[in-house]
Amino acid sequence: MNTEKMEYIDIEGLPLKVSKIALGTWAIGGWMWGGADDDESVRTIRAALDGGINLIDTAPVYGFGRAEEIVGRALAGGRRRHTIIATKAGMEWRDGRVFRNSSPERLRRELEESLRRLGTDFIDIYQVHWPDEKTPIEETAAAMEGFRHEGKVRIIGVSNYAPAQMDRFMTASTLRTVQPPYNLFERQIESELLTYASGKNLTVLAYGSLCRGLLSGGMDEGRVFTGDDIRKFDPKFKQPRFAQYLAAVRKLDDMARRRFGRGVLALAVRWLIDRENVIALWGARRPDQLAPIGDVIGWSIDDDALKEIDRILDETVTDPVGPEFMSPPGRDI
Ligand code: NAP
Repeated sequence: MNTEKMEYIDIEGLPLKVSKIALGTWAIGGWMWGGADDDESVRTIRAALDGGINLIDTAPVYGFGRAEEIVGRALAGGRRRHTIIATKAGMEWRDGRVFRNSSPERLRRELEESLRRLGTDFIDIYQVHWPDEKTPIEETAAAMEGFRHEGKVRIIGVSNYAPAQMDRFMTASTLRTVQPPYNLFERQIESELLTYASGKNLTVLAYGSLCRGLLSGGMDEGRVFTGDDIRKFDPKFKQPRFAQYLAAVRKLDDMARRRFGRGVLALAVRWLIDRENVIALWGARRPDQLAPIGDVIGWSIDDDALKEIDRILDETVTDPVGPEFMSPPGRDI
């Protein structure tokens, strides 16, 4: 593990310091990303660990068990004890359709299945994937807290929860992390959740750090998405917006190279981890995609550059759209 090229923080309740960059494994599950190559996925997870990343974020629904199995495979043979596994519960799937279900019975079943797939006795960070309006939040929270008392879970997190929902959750459970969408193009959490998280000492696991590849710098208008790739339905990838976002990426890339000698990907991830309590979830499916890790570490974005970033975004993305299209349906379908 190349720990010299990584920054780490403490999260109360975890025995290891946690890397400020985490590997996201949604694409590794294949589902909604046009498929995946399992051997390549294992190599990607191991490349992340070699690059100093020690937090792997996954979920049962990513490939309907496949991503968790790949994580288990990649960590077998001694890597598990140096790794923080974050997985989730509360998404049910039937006939290829997914919907929310955070009932205590569903969570119990998912916990046992996740432990088996991941090949482990405990989950480090166990997160409720989406709020489920059909289950009182306190019941979900109490079930999660029960798992922690059993020793099957080290700490508890939620994802896609609003502050008021977290207030309710915390009446029945400890809470240490929250996982919202957050990247240079999707900044909705700045209005409330970020401040809330700081006030409650919650670590923010920011998902979609690269805005599903847009902020990698490797995307262009000719890119063709195949199969069930989510970017076929993502409104940011539809013209005329796609051109606006790509133009912003080009300007950000120029600016990052001029000011910092680094590309837009490094700027996008650095912009997230410059915040003390934010960890960037970086989705990758090939080892070479993680090569820029070193460019992200060991510097900061100054105030003047932050202002230039905002100016570029305001001037270039005149018709912005959020990540709401990703919200899955409730239970009554
Ligand atoms: P992301 O990190 O914004 O983008 C990931 C995609 O960017 C990769 O699959 C890859 O796609 C492309 N990419 C990555 N590195 C690259 C590089 N160096 N050069 C060019 N392209 C590169 O999106 P995400 O995976 O959706 O989000 C990160 C993680 O957050 C997920 O994996 C998951 O763990 C978590 N997440 C959670 C939720 C939730 O509801 N809690 C929702 C979404 C995501 P291509 O190879 O296809 O180009």
